[in-house]
Amino acid sequence: MHDPEYQLREAVIALKSLPHTQLIAQSTWIWSKPVGDVIQADFLNGVVAIQTSLQPLELLDALQAIEHQQGRVRTVHWGPRTLDLDLLLYGQESINNSRLIVPHPHIKDRLFVLEPLAEIDPDLCLADQKTISQLIEKLKQDLK
Ligand code: AMP
Repeated sequence: MHDPEYQLREAVIALKSLPHTQLIAQSTWIWSKPVGDVIQADFLNGVVAIQTSLQPLELLDALQAIEHQQGRVRTVHWGPRTLDLDLLLYGQESINNSRLIVPHPHIKDRLFVLEPLAEIDPDLCLADQKTISQLIEKLKQDLK
């Protein structure tokens, strides 16, 4: 099945259903071109903010369980997959262990992450004190 809007809708329903978790905000969905050389359909991306008392690794487990429930299939690195859920930020925490890096290391390189994040909180500061809006401007300059 290839219905990205359906996949994202279902993912949000699953996130809302996690224990001790509430949905706080949801961006619009935006299309992006695939990264890498594999020929495949465009991706649909979005960001949600949740309030949760799940610990970071419990939340990662939950995200991976949702990916698997929705039949994630990936045979090629950066190739097609039905659903990819990343944990971008966990409050102000910095986490770096064998399973989880937070803030997600690619936030700053991807407009399709930064732009929906800015819809939710444009003044949010990452560790280097730059706001999301400033990071978008910088990335747009770098991509010119
Ligand atoms: P991906 O290909 O983006 O789905 O990466 C999945 C792998 O990245 C999993 O093995 C996770 O343990 C690991 N990972 C590390 N940091 C994160 C993060 N912030 N969000 C999601 N997965 C992460």
